[in-house]
Amino acid sequence: MLKRMWEKVFGTPEEIEKKNAAYRIEIGAQVKGLIVKHSLSCNGCNSLSAPILGTTDRYKCGSCGRQFVSSSHRMDDILRANFTNIITIKIAKDVYSAAAKSI
Ligand SMILES: [Zn+2]
Repeated sequence: MLKRMWEKVFGTPEEIEKKNAAYRIEIGAQVKGLIVKHSLSCNGCNSLSAPILGTTDRYKCGSCGRQFVSSSHRMDDILRANFTNIITIKIAKDVYSAAAKSI
């Protein structure tokens, strides 16, 4: 009875899972856009290098994997500014490395 009421309001576990997956894809696309906007070129192979989360001046090349220090970035702040609630910020951080590899 309680389960049925819950599912009526929030959806079945399958529906919630499907919605979450779609949400992650949508947020992933937005994160990818932000990463591309704030990336630098790799000195080694000239491919885009994404800012590394949790740092303020480190980047990782999406192609050769080279990591380097360069101009400062505020990627953590940028994510917090673009994803306004705690759940979307968490999802954005979860999908960040996959998005960074896909640039
Ligand atoms: Zn490279």
